[in-house]
Amino acid sequence: MRTPEAIETLGAAMRVGVLGGGQLGRMLALAGYPLGIRTALYDPTPDACAGQVAPLISAPYDDLDALARFAENKACLTYEFENVPLAAAQFLAERVSLHPAPRALEIFQDRLQEKQFLRSVGVPTPTFAPIDPAAPEAALHITGLPCVVKTRRLGYDGKGQGVAHTAQEFHALVQRFQPHPLIAEAFVPFDREVSAIGVRAHDGQIAVYPIVENHHDGGVLRLSVVNPDDALNEQGQARAYLTRLLETLDYVGVMALEMFQVGNQLLANEVAPRVHNSGHWTIEGAETSQFENHLRAILGLPLGSVAPRGYSAMVNLIGAIPPIEPILQIPNAHLHLYGKSPRPGRKVGHITLRTDTREALEQQLIPLMEILSAR
Ligand code: AMP
Repeated sequence: MRTPEAIETLGAAMRVGVLGGGQLGRMLALAGYPLGIRTALYDPTPDACAGQVAPLISAPYDDLDALARFAENKACLTYEFENVPLAAAQFLAERVSLHPAPRALEIFQDRLQEKQFLRSVGVPTPTFAPIDPAAPEAALHITGLPCVVKTRRLGYDGKGQGVAHTAQEFHALVQRFQPHPLIAEAFVPFDREVSAIGVRAHDGQIAVYPIVENHHDGGVLRLSVVNPDDALNEQGQARAYLTRLLETLDYVGVMALEMFQVGNQLLANEVAPRVHNSGHWTIEGAETSQFENHLRAILGLPLGSVAPRGYSAMVNLIGAIPPIEPILQIPNAHLHLYGKSPRPGRKVGHITLRTDTREALEQQLIPLMEILSAR
């Protein structure tokens, strides 16, 4: 029998604090419960949806007293979105272990640093150049046309970016986004968009989930399809890139790498130093979910298997909650609602389909997409 003190020590060793209280924080908290992991959230928004399932401290990211209180009695801290102010992450990392380390935040918060880092470790990217507001055409000469103009910071789900087909359009975009620092990228005529999710443990063990094919709608992820037989899994390119990124940064936790596939070649578009929307399928579709593996990694526990359980597809629910009865009638459909009030463009939930064969997945996706498009 353990003494009450021993139980308390064990409890403290399993206490995790998550910066950010959105759906990713919520799914991290839910994944922790079966393992006895107690998650608390920190979010400036008092009604952040993760607060429905775990204790939430609501305070601004520059409130050092609140941050210090949040760090108390935690075995470790992590974050569920990469725009946590770097100063807050650094302040916390001085008090308690924070994974992934603030260095990863620093790099991946800025599209220019991100692309330079990817290149420096030999991960190919689209041609890119920083835009100098005094001489923007220099960037255009490097990327050529068409190109994509993006804000270096705080862009997500296709926000803060636009495609230029002519020099006039390029200059108009530069004008529109100023005074934000900008980057230009060559427009990639990709065959498809894919992502890979990897996790690295304290002891350096790395595991990578099968590749996912992603379909976006207006810049927002709509559908992810996981086919364990995908030829990219055989090539191991994505695995090699992720391994290089994780090892170079001495990274601990889950990392997602979004890529463009052109022929047989993968070009890195974006890195997320956190659990990722294109990994939600792992809750039902893999032996261990990305959320559980992230918690295991940051707590210094052994990683779980990333082996897929058959074939999976994940559909995001964006802007509205569909009628749930017909969805629940679809065999192998798993509904997740985040407890958020719907508004246009907002991710309010997702559905994962998991089947034993590819044919069954394709068959069941048809009625599901019909239900969702009938709204
Ligand atoms: P991002 O915010 O960088 O992930 O971009 C959002 C979406 O814009 C991507 O998922 C792509 O569909 C598209 N996109 C971004 N950059 C490029 C590019 N260089 N070439 C072609 N499409 C792009």
